[in-house]
Amino acid sequence: MRSLVNKLWRGAVELVYPPVCVLCLDRGDDGRDLCAGCRDDLPRNFIACPRCAEPMTTRGQLCGHCQQRPPDFDRVHAPFVYDFPVAQMIAALKFNGRHGLAPLLGELLADELEGRVATPDVILPVPLHPKRLRERGYNQALELARPLARRRQTSLDTRALRRDHATEALSHLDRKQRRRVIRGAFQLDPAFNARHVALVDDVVTTGSTVGEITRLLRRAGVERVDVWALARTPEARAVKKSGMDARK
Ligand SMILES: [Zn+2]
Ligand SMILES: [Zn+2]
Repeated sequence: MRSLVNKLWRGAVELVYPPVCVLCLDRGDDGRDLCAGCRDDLPRNFIACPRCAEPMTTRGQLCGHCQQRPPDFDRVHAPFVYDFPVAQMIAALKFNGRHGLAPLLGELLADELEGRVATPDVILPVPLHPKRLRERGYNQALELARPLARRRQTSLDTRALRRDHATEALSHLDRKQRRRVIRGAFQLDPAFNARHVALVDDVVTTGSTVGEITRLLRRAGVERVDVWALARTPEARAVKKSGMDARK
């Protein structure tokens, strides 16, 4: 009954405000602000490292970093490459106050993960430092995580993990430096208890942030840590990038 009421309500809203594609301004499809054509053209991360989702040229092959030093997390799922127009949508969400893009991007991520990932006991969005949260007004990772938790019918924990240290731009740092800078930036509630966790973030660049959080989770006895991110930066560009996403 409730879903019928929701459907009718959505139908009524769409009559008055039809969805508009945020990319081409055509009419959106499936009640979303994205049309089918633009959606099909998004840069998908089809061939990627099976551990860290780094875009690769050979299917099923671990990237050099994962071969040399296996990451602490079990697996990153990042369905898109951090490239046009996904990169611009994420930047608009984070830096231009386009809070309204979050439900669309979160639903997109949920669609892509459908049938491909196991449902975790709990979803943890990567937290922002409180100062950054005050400036931005919202945590984009949490906003992306909301539709995921709803569709997976699992809990969303926004309290267990805290970011205590503000890290300045990571964009000019290499992988090793990032790992050093991020060390000790997070705190986990000592009472945290789960076996399987999914960490949610907007972009994974080198994986140093989610790697650091994973180490905390492992110490708390978490057995499986999956990372769900909208996009993965190709490693070669991780250091050269403009720093849009790395400002967090
Ligand atoms: Zn479009
Ligand atoms: Zn890898």
